[in-house]
Amino acid sequence: MASAVTQQKVSLPTLSGASADHATPTPVHIVPGQTIPYDLFLDCVHCGLCTSACPTFLELGTEMDSPRGRIYLMRGVVDGRIPLDQHVRRHLDLCLDCRACESACPSGVQYGRLIEPFRTDLQRLGLQARLPRWLELLLFQLFPRPQWTWWSLYPVRGLQRVFGLDWWKPLASWLPLQLRHMLALLPPLPRRYYRFPEQVRAHGERRARVAVFLGCVNHVFFPHVNEATVRLLQFQGCDVLVPKNQVCCGALHYHAGRIQAAQQLAQLNLRAFPSEIDAIVVNVAGCGSTLKDYGHLLADTPYAEQGRALAAKVKDVHEFLATLDFYPPGFGLPIRATYHDACHLCHAQQIRQQPRRLLQQIPELSLVPLQESEVCCGAAGSYNLTQPEMADRLGQRKAGHILQADVQAVFTANAGCLLQIRRHLREHAPHIWVAHPVEALWAACNGHIPYRGIPVSVPD
Ligand code: SF4
Ligand code: SF4
Repeated sequence: MASAVTQQKVSLPTLSGASADHATPTPVHIVPGQTIPYDLFLDCVHCGLCTSACPTFLELGTEMDSPRGRIYLMRGVVDGRIPLDQHVRRHLDLCLDCRACESACPSGVQYGRLIEPFRTDLQRLGLQARLPRWLELLLFQLFPRPQWTWWSLYPVRGLQRVFGLDWWKPLASWLPLQLRHMLALLPPLPRRYYRFPEQVRAHGERRARVAVFLGCVNHVFFPHVNEATVRLLQFQGCDVLVPKNQVCCGALHYHAGRIQAAQQLAQLNLRAFPSEIDAIVVNVAGCGSTLKDYGHLLADTPYAEQGRALAAKVKDVHEFLATLDFYPPGFGLPIRATYHDACHLCHAQQIRQQPRRLLQQIPELSLVPLQESEVCCGAAGSYNLTQPEMADRLGQRKAGHILQADVQAVFTANAGCLLQIRRHLREHAPHIWVAHPVEALWAACNGHIPYRGIPVSVPD
């Protein structure tokens, strides 16, 4: 694939100021949403069956904070019946883009195809709620560069080691709300920046040749998840490539309506991943759904075909492992555990059973259902930082259900969910192991105790 991509110079979105999307000249007469095919609005028959699946409706109970209400608002703005005032924008901003409404809708409404271009138009027109400048720089300039993020957190790592995870609390009243939320989310920071060899060989007979996508926030905060993914794939008979030129998938930019920046990142990934592989394996639900959407993201660029080809190779790690004849783990984890469905895995990629079936292959692990397992935990990409109050409410709701399940471990397959659930369990149940399923699977394959207090049983 690398050779198929035109060698036009593409670089990460600039650090010097606003993203390229801000610079896009936009005719002043454009109404947000006018580029959305109008039929997509008409798919909604106003039945309301989606409302009980919508996290913001569950919390607020207001029609305009439900999918049906938001579709009505967007259509009203496009028709010119509803002015795009701050109240309308607030209802739209509160949407998590979790796509639970798509799973619930019997009419096949493609809600993501409505809210995402609508947000892009708001962004282009400068009508989206402005974030503080420091937060914009953090989200759209720093986070897509994992090595920079790791170095920028160096002083925080030191403070965590000396004063603990809550070192910032005495300063809380001086800190902006979003910064407090970010600091509260931080897990213990890894001591080193992980670098993987570009290629590792399969154990035993080779069954597949895959490339692994590392993710940027994921790679800074959860490098051990990437390591477990690479080792597990190796153990399952895969040659594993870790292309060193891969970059952020562009999800943060894409969901915030910064399409040009997302397209630039997508082009870099087209060059980074070779075509002679069986799959591009992803362990972060949000990154996986964005990579699978590259055909759509690049549709109006010369890279559309390459985007579709790359997207066709992308597989969530559970989806991929389910296609192999999975070698069963040799060690047991005698624990009671549950599983939270990350929105961009269950709603955006329709992957629900594969992670559960894999976890159930671990000897002695008892997997129990989680109430509202498909309701967003409030992480939702950068939502935690842009809408901290609603994110908190949803995080507490999720933690309450996990506590009710009375488990020793909760598994979920998305970096944002791991951060959010850990944060909300830390106060009441710090003993609960919050982990990615591949951590448990790899532990059960290699017999290493993954977390203090979690036992590993050795087969007779
Ligand atoms: S989005 Fe679907 S489920 Fe919701 S009101 Fe419209 S048709 Fe009904
Ligand atoms: S994407 Fe999620 S938060 Fe937004 S309307 Fe649909 S269910 Fe509600």
